[in-house]
Amino acid sequence: MCAPAFYGVEYVINPWMAGNIHRVSHENALAQWEQFRQRLAEFVDIEFLDPAPGLPDMVFTANGGLLLEKKAVLSRFLYRERQGERDHFRRWFKRAGYEVADLPGDIPFEGEGDALLDPERGLLWVGYGMRTDLGVHPALAEALNLRVVSLRLADERFYHLDTCLCPLTGGWLLYYPRAFDADSILQIEQIVPCEKRIAIGDSDAAAFACNVVNIGRHVVMNHASPELKTVLGHAGFKVIETPLDEFLKAGGAAKCLVLHLDNHAPPKSVASTTVRESVITIEGHLLHAGLLEKAVDTVIEKGGSFQVMHFDLGKQQSSVSRAEMRVVAASESRLNSILSHLLALGAKRVSAHEIDATLLPAPADGVAPEDFYASTIYPTEVRVAGAWVPVANQRMDGVVVVEPGIKPAARCALFRTLRKGDLVVTGAGGLRTRAKSPKPDSGADHEFSFMGAGVSSERRVDLVVERIAWEMRRWREQKGKIVVVAGPVVIHTGGGEHLARLIRDGYVQALLGGNAIAVHDIEQALLGTSLGVDLIRGAPVDHGHRHHLAAINTIRRCGGIRQAVEQGILTRGVFFECVRAGVPFSLAGSIRDDGPLPDTQMDLIKAQDDYTRLVRGADMILMLSSMLHSIGVGNMTPAGVRLACIDINPAVVTKLADRGSLESVGVVTDVGLFLSLLLQRLAL
Ligand code: NAD
Repeated sequence: MCAPAFYGVEYVINPWMAGNIHRVSHENALAQWEQFRQRLAEFVDIEFLDPAPGLPDMVFTANGGLLLEKKAVLSRFLYRERQGERDHFRRWFKRAGYEVADLPGDIPFEGEGDALLDPERGLLWVGYGMRTDLGVHPALAEALNLRVVSLRLADERFYHLDTCLCPLTGGWLLYYPRAFDADSILQIEQIVPCEKRIAIGDSDAAAFACNVVNIGRHVVMNHASPELKTVLGHAGFKVIETPLDEFLKAGGAAKCLVLHLDNHAPPKSVASTTVRESVITIEGHLLHAGLLEKAVDTVIEKGGSFQVMHFDLGKQQSSVSRAEMRVVAASESRLNSILSHLLALGAKRVSAHEIDATLLPAPADGVAPEDFYASTIYPTEVRVAGAWVPVANQRMDGVVVVEPGIKPAARCALFRTLRKGDLVVTGAGGLRTRAKSPKPDSGADHEFSFMGAGVSSERRVDLVVERIAWEMRRWREQKGKIVVVAGPVVIHTGGGEHLARLIRDGYVQALLGGNAIAVHDIEQALLGTSLGVDLIRGAPVDHGHRHHLAAINTIRRCGGIRQAVEQGILTRGVFFECVRAGVPFSLAGSIRDDGPLPDTQMDLIKAQDDYTRLVRGADMILMLSSMLHSIGVGNMTPAGVRLACIDINPAVVTKLADRGSLESVGVVTDVGLFLSLLLQRLAL
């Protein structure tokens, strides 16, 4: 232990400290620490580390290292504020006769704060995600010859493992489940049987009820609720409460104030860890395209950790930078998940050039093997028998199926199309992706990509519409394929006539939507209203509420939209123009549909297939105010297709336009206004 002579809250490195700077009462702290020391002294011998001025947190000796038998693994504090403690601990350990071990590299490890021995199970619980880095877990297993179980801390209030977990005598485990991520809770549950787990609630956790010193059948702690005392009592423990609220102000309590000197190695222990790592390289305009930031965010978000091993910074705006990164994850499957996201950003595994992709047979029709690689929108290649094979039908959220042979082939497939025995790519090895990286000086890309910086504000709408018009004219001249996805709002906002005009003038090669766009377009064509509202006068008409049903009824009587046009019943509007111009359309059903129209495909698998067929080969897709159908189409569209999403809700636009590729652009505006502006810009 270390007396609180210089203890205080002098800086903020955890949420408990916030608002408590200089608010510690030295008198109280001293009295509480002294009382706590006396309680412990009833059961154990205590050694002392001399306090040092300027190191107010050294009172929390648990963080100084981890001791096992005569070996001391020295901490390397994450925050500069605590780094001065290291030499004090090192000197003390040496003087006390411990063999001091330093973990390799420059990676944070905060001692018993994050590494708790569970002697009954012969393992070491080690936290990561806040202070201790996952990268040291394997070295810790090796140095102490222990099985390490890595747990990810997910709540910054519980920034050290010892604030939310404590192994107790007899195989009990006291823990606060909400402090961990789902995978870690699952690990705890797999290792510790239900009857040995004592999960505490929010208010006990906030009083640091997991931060206890356990000596035999005694648990010494700041405070426990009556319920927790009962549970601990049933488990055979005697709770000794001793107030430590002055230390709570700095985010510490009983366990933090104590470092165990007498940890014993469990019998027959063997070093093991589930932590896995891989080295990747990422190249391109890493800084101004934000690629490096995205890569790093991906690793952290997905629960991994990274170390940049080399970084060659391109000196000019146009030059390319290159980073080599070591990526670490708590398990093979987590690592694969992180790597597949990094591959989508264009990263390459350093070893990927030497290894073929791992192919496993689908265990049953419609079922992929565990650990399947989930495809992205980016052009992908898979390494089969030493050669890189391009993946056909690229799309998001599929799997990659390989047909080996003299000339191997690979394609994206959906679960439902898998047949038992199909060879599916698993893991993240033997895969590479070409992500789009913006080239600031690359001609046509630049023309469109300047919009791709994200979602357009009102101010920029005019400019963006001008660019979309330019793009559409270009594709029409080149006989390209423009697909429009549209929702009924197009009709309600008076945009129907503009969309009809685009179709008539050859700007649309396929139309995708749901029942509603067709119903409202046809209602307007037949009865002059959209959902019973006269769009010219902007007012509801008498009995207008049944107009859309009447429109559906008429088309049903005719047998379908095409038949209604052929019979001379439907003579204007969006769908009339489609039929007249031979533009294919597909209407996908939904639970909201009235009727439906005979053309609406209520078998959603068939509808998805139909959409996929019409989207294939698209050069540009205009998504007009239908969240449902636009997102559906976004998922089946590979990178490289120009995407323009128009919606009044910025969240929808962001979701669709933020595909990590610069061909997509979002416009937050009223779709009726957008279409009218677009027609002006096209000079129609
Ligand atoms: P959706 O909620 O998926 O999308 C509507 C989008 O329009 C939203 O993103 C919204 O922000 C946007 N929007 C609203 N006002 C706008 C404006 N003025 N300008 C630009 N954007 C605007 O709904 P959906 O695609 O219309 O319908 C979902 C499904 O329900 C579809 O399959 C549709 O066919 C069906 N539906 C059927 C009926 C019917 O049969 N009577 C009626 C409505 C919807």
